[in-house]
Amino acid sequence: MNRQDLEIIKNSIRVIPDFPKPGIMFKDITTLLNNPEAYKTLMEHLVERYKDYNLDYIAGIDARGFIFGSALASHLGVGFIPIRKKGKLPYTTVSEKYSLEYGFDEVEVHIDAFNKEDGSKAKVLLIDDLLATGGTSAAASRLIERVGANCVEACFIIELSFLEGAKKLNTPVYSVIVE
Ligand code: AMP
Repeated sequence: MNRQDLEIIKNSIRVIPDFPKPGIMFKDITTLLNNPEAYKTLMEHLVERYKDYNLDYIAGIDARGFIFGSALASHLGVGFIPIRKKGKLPYTTVSEKYSLEYGFDEVEVHIDAFNKEDGSKAKVLLIDDLLATGGTSAAASRLIERVGANCVEACFIIELSFLEGAKKLNTPVYSVIVE
């Protein structure tokens, strides 16, 4: 991506200090989404990057990964799979726990979400808005592999590289903005 396009996307993201708690610099992507130039620039960049990956599915993480993931899936003509927080999916699920600062959280996916008619292994791109410690996306990529699909890459709009979250993932990581 050229520097000008990257600046358009970067400048559209609002930073809210001390949200949801003191010390966190929250990256607010709602100001990217309501900026047509920035949103279009981002989506065109992602379509260009992934159009030749021969993906079968895009898996988005609850909830902001749904926004970017479903738009990208539609552009690429592939299916979209939601990876949800525990208790939201109606059919049989597989779940993975991950640690938080205090306690743990859990993500789930439908057991048959990545099935392909010919029985072959689905190629899946995982997407979320932001990579911080990597706990959420590492659990999501384990889920994808556990239900028999292949997580070929994890994609983020923003990566907080000082938290070294990419090291937790067993897949290649691509981040549009690395801080
Ligand atoms: P982690 O599991 O630590 O990589 O956290 C990633 C998840 O938490 C993503 O779904 C993000 O949306 C959210 N998140 C973590 N830190 C931030 C931040 N500074 N700004 C916005 N979202 C964040």
